[in-house]
Amino acid sequence: MDKTNDPKLTSWVAVAADSHFPIQNLPFGVAARTDGECFIVSAIGDRVIDLSELERRGVFSNTPLTGMNIFQGTSLNPFMALGRDCWKAVRSTLSHLLKAENPTIRDNAELKQSVLIPASEVEMVMPLEIGDYTDFYSSREHATNVGTMFRGVDNALMPNWLHLPVAYHGRASSVVVSGTPIRRPTGQTLPEEAESPQFGASKVLDFELEMGFFIGPSGELGDPISVNDAENHIFGMVLVNDWSARDIQKWEYQPLGPFLAKNFGTTISPWVVTLEALEPFRCDGPEQTPEPLPYLRSTGKRTFDIQLEVALAPDSAEGTTITRGNFNTLYWDMRQQLTHHTVTGCNAQTGDLLASGTISGSNNKSLGSLLELTWMGKKPLKLVGGEERKFIEDGDSITITGWCQGDGYRIGFGVCNGTIIPATKV
Ligand code: MN
Repeated sequence: MDKTNDPKLTSWVAVAADSHFPIQNLPFGVAARTDGECFIVSAIGDRVIDLSELERRGVFSNTPLTGMNIFQGTSLNPFMALGRDCWKAVRSTLSHLLKAENPTIRDNAELKQSVLIPASEVEMVMPLEIGDYTDFYSSREHATNVGTMFRGVDNALMPNWLHLPVAYHGRASSVVVSGTPIRRPTGQTLPEEAESPQFGASKVLDFELEMGFFIGPSGELGDPISVNDAENHIFGMVLVNDWSARDIQKWEYQPLGPFLAKNFGTTISPWVVTLEALEPFRCDGPEQTPEPLPYLRSTGKRTFDIQLEVALAPDSAEGTTITRGNFNTLYWDMRQQLTHHTVTGCNAQTGDLLASGTISGSNNKSLGSLLELTWMGKKPLKLVGGEERKFIEDGDSITITGWCQGDGYRIGFGVCNGTIIPATKV
């Protein structure tokens, strides 16, 4: 095991047992001060670590980053492009500086104050520039549930589904960071029993519990990324809410798939958790039968044990946890998604976001959308305050959280939160 993953490692910075950011995590993000100035950070406990200041003071001078000024900008893309050796060097340097025995920052009051900032004093902003966004459909349970509702139980899973990771090209411009309000979309729908479509605000607004990963080093156009090399192109992961207007989706989706039902907003959590931090939580995924074609076969543990929860809170009311799932239930893994995406020679580029698709488990308490939880609105959910929900109403907030549970510590992702605001009057 890499020593940065040692469960016994402790920091001189106080970290609660249920904190998402112990010394074993060290995620990357971008923070904004109250005056709007943005800077690249990591996190420990309830503090953010100013990596731009650490770099100016030369702490990365014994790493491949020396002289590169990689943390002086306001996005992670330049760092992400450098690749795993550089990511590991920075992680190892940070881990060393923060461990309990190291006095370098711990005993230097001036340095400590300038690089460790209370998380409550900053706002986390979009951590990178996302070039392209692709959304997969990799949960067998989700695909089966939606297929059953939209096409009937006999046509639930399409004939291709068990042979390739199905996806659509999404919209990168409307990916927003946690905390950004989402406006209810307006569009065209065909109401039940109606003969012609109508135009107006979506009445069937939903969330989708997903996770996503970001491309580190780019691939070359015309040059597929192989399944055994795929993880070298994956920088890290975030929580994703792929907001979906089901009434718009139902009317528009055939024959080319989602379009306007999904392009009005996708929310991500602000902290990118690296594959290095997730390594101790690597695990097997579901067995794949039939065996995938050779270009999609890889060896070893191919996914991660990441616990996920979603809460729905009506306007200024208490939240109710409405589902609990796990990333490791996904049928297709990240290696297979990236390999399949680039097998034509399509070039994945630094900062591209590839999301998992809705993560639904095998029981009715682990479904990753309201569409499934309420079975198309037929079985409303009861919330703790006594209200019921079939779908999302104006003022409702959806909060996704996720973490890997270690022995006495958590590698967490923070939260991915968004509140629905009323549609524009048309
Ligand atoms: Mn989706």
